[in-house]
Amino acid sequence: MIREIQAKTLLAHVKQPDTWFGLRYNLNLYRGCQHQCIYCDSRSECYQIENFHDVLVKVNALDLLRDELPRKREKGTIGFGSMSDPYTFAEKQYNLTGQALAVIAEHKFPVHLITKSDMVVKDRETLAAINEVFATVSFTITTTDDDLARQIEPGAPSPSRRLKAMAALRERGIHAGITLMPVLPFIEDNAANITQIVTQAADHGAEYILASFGMTLRDRQRAYYYDQLDRHFPGVRAQYERRFGNHYSCAALRSDQLWELFKDLCERYSLSTQVSRYIPPVQPTQLALL
Ligand code: SF4
Repeated sequence: MIREIQAKTLLAHVKQPDTWFGLRYNLNLYRGCQHQCIYCDSRSECYQIENFHDVLVKVNALDLLRDELPRKREKGTIGFGSMSDPYTFAEKQYNLTGQALAVIAEHKFPVHLITKSDMVVKDRETLAAINEVFATVSFTITTTDDDLARQIEPGAPSPSRRLKAMAALRERGIHAGITLMPVLPFIEDNAANITQIVTQAADHGAEYILASFGMTLRDRQRAYYYDQLDRHFPGVRAQYERRFGNHYSCAALRSDQLWELFKDLCERYSLSTQVSRYIPPVQPTQLALL
C-alpha cells in the first residue's frame, strides 16, 4: 500500500562524524520500503515504522527541500538510502528522488546514494551534473547469486541488474561502488561468495567496496528475519539461536579469514576498501591587512 503524508522537516543533520560514508545530512523521501529485504534493520522498534511493507510518500518533500537547502551553510554530503531505498517502486510513480536530485544539482551539494535498484540509471544525467561537485552511488550487493537474492531481497531488482546499472554510471564518469553488507552468517559468509562479489564488482567498473562481515539483529527485525529463515532456510534459525543468542552484533563465521581474502582480492583488482568521498575545496587563506 502507498500512502501520501506531509513531512514537517526533511534534511536531518548527521550529528556524529560519519566515518563510513562521510555524510553531513540524511534525506529520506519515503518511509517503508518495497524491496522487503528479510534482514532490514529499519523494522527495529526504535524507528517506529509499523507495517514496513507500506510506503509513506512525503509529497511536500520538494517544497521542504527548496526551503531548507539554501539555508544550510555547510556544503556537506547529502546521503540518500539510510532508512528506505530512494528507488523503492513508488519512485516510478512519484519521481521524488529524481526531482530532489535536480534541486540539489541547482544548489551544488555533494551526494551519496545507497540503493539496491537499477532504477537509478534514469537519473544518470542529473547525477553527472551533481558530480561536477561530487556524486557517488553505492549499490548494496550481498550475493551475486540472483536466485539467493530473490529469497533474501525479494522485492529488489537482481544483483546482476544492479551491477549493470553500476557499469552504466561509471561509463558516465559518476563515482560508484559496492556496499557489501550485511554478510549473513551461515548463508553468505563463504569464500566463494566474497570472491564472486569482488570479481564481479571489478568487471563492472566499481571504484570501491565497503564491507562488513556480519549483521545486526534486534527485537522486531530479529523476529521477522527468523520467520523468513524458517520459510526459506530450514534449520538455520536454530544455528543462529545457538551461536548468537540475543546478541545485537552477529559476526560472520571465520570473519577474520574472509576479511583477509577480501583485502587481497581488492588489492589484486585495485579496488579501494573505503567509499569515494567529497573533499571540500581548500579555502584560500585570507591575507592579513597591513
Ligand atoms: S533496500 Fe534497504 S531499506 Fe529497503 S528493505 Fe532492503 S535493507 Fe531495508
